[in-house]
Amino acid sequence: MSTNMTGATYSIVPLYYGRFPSYEKSVLQMMTDYGKKVDSPAMGYLIQGNGKNILVDTGPGEQEALAKLHPGLEIDFPIEANVINALAEKGVKPEDIDAVIWTHLHWDHCYNGEKFPATTPFYVQEAELNYAINPLDMHINVYESPKGGMMPGWMPVIKQLRLVKGDMKLADGIDLLFTPGHTPGGQSVLVNTVDGPYLVAGDTVMQYENWEGKGALRHLYSTAHVNLLDFEASLKRLDELNAFILPGHDYKVFEHKTYPACAE
Ligand SMILES: [Zn+2]
Ligand SMILES: [Zn+2]
Repeated sequence: MSTNMTGATYSIVPLYYGRFPSYEKSVLQMMTDYGKKVDSPAMGYLIQGNGKNILVDTGPGEQEALAKLHPGLEIDFPIEANVINALAEKGVKPEDIDAVIWTHLHWDHCYNGEKFPATTPFYVQEAELNYAINPLDMHINVYESPKGGMMPGWMPVIKQLRLVKGDMKLADGIDLLFTPGHTPGGQSVLVNTVDGPYLVAGDTVMQYENWEGKGALRHLYSTAHVNLLDFEASLKRLDELNAFILPGHDYKVFEHKTYPACAE
Protein backbone atom coordinates (compact mmCIF):
# COMPACT_ATOMS: atom_id res chain seq x y z
CA MET A 1 0.00 0.00 0.00
CA SER A 2 1.36 3.39 -0.96
CA THR A 3 1.69 5.94 1.80
CA ASN A 4 3.29 8.76 -0.12
CA MET A 5 0.25 9.87 -2.11
CA THR A 6 -0.68 13.51 -2.00
CA GLY A 7 -4.17 14.89 -1.74
CA ALA A 8 -7.26 13.72 0.05
CA THR A 9 -8.02 10.02 0.33
CA TYR A 10 -11.33 8.36 1.04
CA SER A 11 -12.87 5.06 2.00
CA ILE A 12 -15.94 3.67 0.23
CA VAL A 13 -18.72 1.80 2.02
CA PRO A 14 -21.19 -0.26 -0.05
CA LEU A 15 -24.85 0.09 0.94
CA TYR A 16 -27.51 -2.57 0.42
CA TYR A 17 -30.91 -1.24 -0.66
CA GLY A 18 -32.85 -4.45 -1.32
CA ARG A 19 -32.96 -6.83 -4.25
CA PHE A 20 -34.41 -8.14 -7.46
CA PRO A 21 -34.88 -11.78 -6.41
CA SER A 22 -35.37 -13.17 -9.91
CA TYR A 23 -33.76 -10.95 -12.52
CA GLU A 24 -33.23 -11.99 -16.14
CA LYS A 25 -29.48 -12.63 -16.37
CA SER A 26 -29.23 -11.79 -20.07
CA VAL A 27 -30.22 -8.22 -19.21
CA LEU A 28 -27.23 -7.92 -16.86
CA GLN A 29 -24.83 -9.60 -19.31
CA MET A 30 -25.96 -9.14 -22.89
CA MET A 31 -26.20 -12.27 -25.08
CA THR A 32 -25.52 -14.68 -22.23
CA ASP A 33 -27.66 -17.18 -20.33
CA TYR A 34 -31.05 -16.36 -21.86
CA GLY A 35 -33.87 -17.33 -19.53
CA LYS A 36 -31.66 -17.77 -16.48
CA LYS A 37 -32.85 -15.83 -13.42
CA VAL A 38 -30.47 -14.47 -10.81
CA ASP A 39 -30.81 -12.63 -7.52
CA SER A 40 -29.40 -9.13 -7.94
CA PRO A 41 -29.05 -6.37 -5.32
CA ALA A 42 -29.91 -2.68 -5.54
CA MET A 43 -26.99 -0.70 -4.17
CA GLY A 44 -25.38 2.59 -3.35
CA TYR A 45 -22.03 3.71 -1.97
CA LEU A 46 -20.98 6.04 0.82
CA ILE A 47 -17.69 7.86 0.23
CA GLN A 48 -16.07 9.06 3.46
CA GLY A 49 -12.95 11.10 4.11
CA ASN A 50 -11.48 14.59 4.16
CA GLY A 51 -14.31 15.56 6.54
CA LYS A 52 -16.95 14.64 3.98
CA ASN A 53 -19.74 12.12 3.49
CA ILE A 54 -20.74 11.77 -0.14
CA LEU A 55 -23.51 9.40 -1.14
CA VAL A 56 -23.66 7.73 -4.55
CA ASP A 57 -27.20 6.68 -5.54
CA THR A 58 -30.17 6.73 -3.18
CA GLY A 59 -31.89 3.52 -4.25
CA PRO A 60 -35.50 2.58 -4.79
CA GLY A 61 -38.60 3.84 -3.01
CA GLU A 62 -41.43 2.08 -1.30
CA GLN A 63 -42.12 -1.56 -2.14
CA GLU A 64 -45.89 -1.41 -2.59
CA ALA A 65 -45.90 1.58 -4.93
CA LEU A 66 -43.05 0.16 -6.99
CA ALA A 67 -44.73 -3.23 -7.28
CA LYS A 68 -47.70 -1.47 -8.86
CA LEU A 69 -45.52 0.53 -11.25
CA HIS A 70 -43.47 -2.49 -12.30
CA PRO A 71 -45.77 -5.50 -12.42
CA GLY A 72 -44.01 -8.62 -13.62
CA LEU A 73 -40.71 -7.58 -12.06
CA GLU A 74 -39.94 -9.33 -8.78
CA ILE A 75 -38.73 -6.82 -6.23
CA ASP A 76 -37.89 -6.95 -2.53
CA PHE A 77 -37.24 -3.53 -1.03
CA PRO A 78 -37.94 -3.80 2.71
CA ILE A 79 -38.01 -0.58 4.71
CA GLU A 80 -34.98 -1.80 6.72
CA ALA A 81 -32.93 -1.55 3.52
CA ASN A 82 -34.14 1.93 2.55
CA VAL A 83 -31.24 4.34 2.11
CA ILE A 84 -31.97 6.20 5.35
CA ASN A 85 -31.83 2.96 7.36
CA ALA A 86 -28.82 1.71 5.39
CA LEU A 87 -26.99 4.92 6.32
CA ALA A 88 -28.14 4.73 9.96
CA GLU A 89 -26.60 1.28 10.16
CA LYS A 90 -23.27 2.94 9.30
CA GLY A 91 -23.88 5.67 11.90
CA VAL A 92 -24.67 8.34 9.29
CA LYS A 93 -27.70 10.65 9.37
CA PRO A 94 -29.25 12.34 6.32
CA GLU A 95 -27.95 15.72 7.51
CA ASP A 96 -24.40 14.31 7.58
CA ILE A 97 -24.46 13.89 3.79
CA ASP A 98 -22.63 16.76 2.07
CA ALA A 99 -23.61 15.81 -1.46
CA VAL A 100 -25.46 13.11 -3.36
CA ILE A 101 -24.28 11.84 -6.74
CA TRP A 102 -26.73 10.06 -9.01
CA THR A 103 -24.92 7.79 -11.48
CA HIS A 104 -28.09 7.87 -13.61
CA LEU A 105 -31.84 8.23 -13.19
CA HIS A 106 -33.18 4.69 -13.59
CA TRP A 107 -35.83 4.31 -10.91
CA ASP A 108 -33.85 1.90 -8.72
CA HIS A 109 -31.12 4.54 -8.19
CA CYS A 110 -32.82 7.88 -7.53
CA TYR A 111 -35.63 7.73 -4.96
CA ASN A 112 -35.65 9.15 -1.40
CA GLY A 113 -34.08 12.54 -2.16
CA GLU A 114 -36.77 14.31 -0.09
CA LYS A 115 -35.56 12.44 3.01
CA PHE A 116 -32.39 14.56 2.97
CA PRO A 117 -32.19 18.23 3.99
CA ALA A 118 -33.53 20.78 1.51
CA THR A 119 -29.97 22.12 1.18
CA THR A 120 -28.45 18.81 0.02
CA PRO A 121 -27.14 19.08 -3.56
CA PHE A 122 -27.83 16.22 -6.00
CA TYR A 123 -25.33 15.91 -8.84
CA VAL A 124 -26.63 14.43 -12.08
CA GLN A 125 -25.64 14.79 -15.71
CA GLU A 126 -27.75 17.25 -17.65
CA ALA A 127 -27.99 14.76 -20.53
CA GLU A 128 -29.43 12.20 -18.11
CA LEU A 129 -32.10 14.54 -16.79
CA ASN A 130 -33.10 15.52 -20.33
CA TYR A 131 -33.47 11.88 -21.31
CA ALA A 132 -35.35 10.98 -18.12
CA ILE A 133 -37.90 13.65 -19.02
CA ASN A 134 -38.18 12.68 -22.67
CA PRO A 135 -36.95 9.10 -23.24
CA LEU A 136 -37.74 6.68 -26.03
CA ASP A 137 -41.13 5.13 -25.36
CA MET A 138 -39.49 1.80 -24.49
CA HIS A 139 -37.61 3.52 -21.65
CA ILE A 140 -40.55 5.42 -20.14
CA ASN A 141 -41.06 2.74 -17.51
CA VAL A 142 -37.43 2.33 -16.40
CA TYR A 143 -37.31 6.11 -15.84
CA GLU A 144 -40.87 6.30 -14.48
CA SER A 145 -40.90 9.23 -16.84
CA PRO A 146 -43.30 12.18 -16.72
CA LYS A 147 -43.61 11.54 -20.48
CA GLY A 148 -45.69 8.51 -19.45
CA GLY A 149 -47.61 10.44 -16.80
CA MET A 150 -45.50 9.07 -13.96
CA MET A 151 -43.78 10.89 -11.10
CA PRO A 152 -40.11 9.87 -11.05
CA GLY A 153 -38.23 9.38 -7.77
CA TRP A 154 -36.01 12.43 -8.35
CA MET A 155 -38.91 14.84 -8.92
CA PRO A 156 -39.37 15.99 -5.26
CA VAL A 157 -35.80 17.38 -5.25
CA ILE A 158 -35.78 18.88 -8.73
CA LYS A 159 -34.79 22.28 -7.27
CA GLN A 160 -31.76 20.70 -5.58
CA LEU A 161 -30.34 19.19 -8.77
CA ARG A 162 -26.85 20.31 -9.81
CA LEU A 163 -26.63 19.63 -13.51
CA VAL A 164 -23.23 18.38 -14.67
CA LYS A 165 -22.05 18.58 -18.27
CA GLY A 166 -19.38 15.95 -18.83
CA ASP A 167 -16.48 15.44 -16.43
CA MET A 168 -16.29 17.43 -13.22
CA LYS A 169 -14.07 17.58 -10.15
CA LEU A 170 -16.45 17.32 -7.20
CA ALA A 171 -13.84 17.55 -4.45
CA ASP A 172 -10.14 16.99 -3.94
CA GLY A 173 -9.77 13.29 -4.87
CA ILE A 174 -13.33 12.80 -6.15
CA ASP A 175 -14.07 13.16 -9.87
CA LEU A 176 -17.27 12.65 -11.82
CA LEU A 177 -16.60 10.96 -15.17
CA PHE A 178 -19.11 11.08 -18.00
CA THR A 179 -19.67 7.43 -18.99
CA PRO A 180 -22.68 7.13 -21.32
CA GLY A 181 -23.90 3.96 -22.99
CA HIS A 182 -26.10 2.26 -20.42
CA THR A 183 -27.95 5.59 -20.43
CA PRO A 184 -27.30 8.84 -22.34
CA GLY A 185 -26.00 10.67 -19.27
CA GLY A 186 -24.41 8.02 -17.09
CA GLN A 187 -21.60 9.08 -14.79
CA SER A 188 -19.06 7.18 -12.71
CA VAL A 189 -17.21 8.37 -9.63
CA LEU A 190 -13.43 8.16 -9.45
CA VAL A 191 -12.21 8.17 -5.86
CA ASN A 192 -8.67 8.54 -4.58
CA THR A 193 -7.80 6.07 -1.82
CA VAL A 194 -4.65 5.02 0.03
CA ASP A 195 -4.71 2.00 -2.30
CA GLY A 196 -4.92 4.08 -5.49
CA PRO A 197 -7.94 4.94 -7.63
CA TYR A 198 -11.31 3.22 -7.05
CA LEU A 199 -14.22 3.65 -9.41
CA VAL A 200 -17.90 3.56 -8.47
CA ALA A 201 -19.14 2.57 -11.91
CA GLY A 202 -22.92 2.71 -11.57
CA ASP A 203 -24.56 0.48 -14.18
CA THR A 204 -21.74 1.03 -16.67
CA VAL A 205 -20.47 -2.11 -14.94
CA MET A 206 -23.52 -4.01 -13.64
CA GLN A 207 -21.53 -6.87 -12.12
CA TYR A 208 -17.94 -8.15 -11.94
CA GLU A 209 -18.91 -10.68 -14.61
CA ASN A 210 -19.41 -7.74 -16.99
CA TRP A 211 -16.00 -6.33 -16.17
CA GLU A 212 -14.23 -9.70 -16.43
CA GLY A 213 -15.63 -10.35 -19.93
CA LYS A 214 -16.00 -13.68 -21.66
CA GLY A 215 -13.90 -15.39 -24.34
CA ALA A 216 -12.80 -12.79 -26.88
CA LEU A 217 -14.92 -10.12 -25.23
CA ARG A 218 -12.86 -8.01 -22.87
CA HIS A 219 -16.02 -6.76 -21.13
CA LEU A 220 -19.72 -7.56 -21.39
CA TYR A 221 -22.33 -4.91 -22.08
CA SER A 222 -25.71 -5.05 -20.44
CA THR A 223 -28.80 -5.45 -22.59
CA ALA A 224 -30.10 -2.35 -20.84
CA HIS A 225 -28.39 0.32 -22.94
CA VAL A 226 -29.07 3.18 -25.30
CA ASN A 227 -25.84 3.11 -27.34
CA LEU A 228 -23.28 0.31 -27.58
CA LEU A 229 -20.64 2.51 -29.23
CA ASP A 230 -20.81 4.91 -26.29
CA PHE A 231 -20.86 1.93 -23.92
CA GLU A 232 -17.68 0.57 -25.50
CA ALA A 233 -15.95 3.96 -25.34
CA SER A 234 -16.90 4.31 -21.66
CA LEU A 235 -15.55 0.84 -20.84
CA LYS A 236 -12.29 1.64 -22.70
CA ARG A 237 -12.04 4.80 -20.66
CA LEU A 238 -12.48 2.85 -17.43
CA ASP A 239 -9.77 0.42 -18.58
CA GLU A 240 -7.29 3.25 -18.84
CA LEU A 241 -7.92 4.37 -15.25
CA ASN A 242 -6.41 1.19 -13.80
CA ALA A 243 -8.88 1.62 -10.97
CA PHE A 244 -10.48 -0.94 -8.69
CA ILE A 245 -14.03 -1.29 -10.02
CA LEU A 246 -17.10 -1.19 -7.78
CA PRO A 247 -20.12 -2.33 -9.86
CA GLY A 248 -23.78 -1.32 -9.68
CA HIS A 249 -25.61 -4.57 -8.90
CA ASP A 250 -23.29 -7.24 -7.46
CA TYR A 251 -23.45 -9.06 -4.10
CA LYS A 252 -19.69 -9.71 -4.28
CA VAL A 253 -19.12 -6.10 -3.29
CA PHE A 254 -20.54 -6.88 0.16
CA GLU A 255 -17.70 -9.31 0.89
CA HIS A 256 -16.04 -6.24 2.37
CA LYS A 257 -17.62 -3.64 4.63
CA THR A 258 -15.36 -0.93 3.31
CA TYR A 259 -12.94 -0.27 0.45
CA PRO A 260 -9.98 -0.32 0.18
CA ALA A 261 -10.52 -3.66 1.87
CA CYS A 262 -7.06 -3.49 3.46
CA ALA A 263 -8.31 -0.59 5.61
CA GLU A 264 -10.64 -2.91 7.57
ZN1 LIG B 1 -29.54 1.47 -14.77
ZN1 LIG C 1 -29.48 -0.20 -11.86
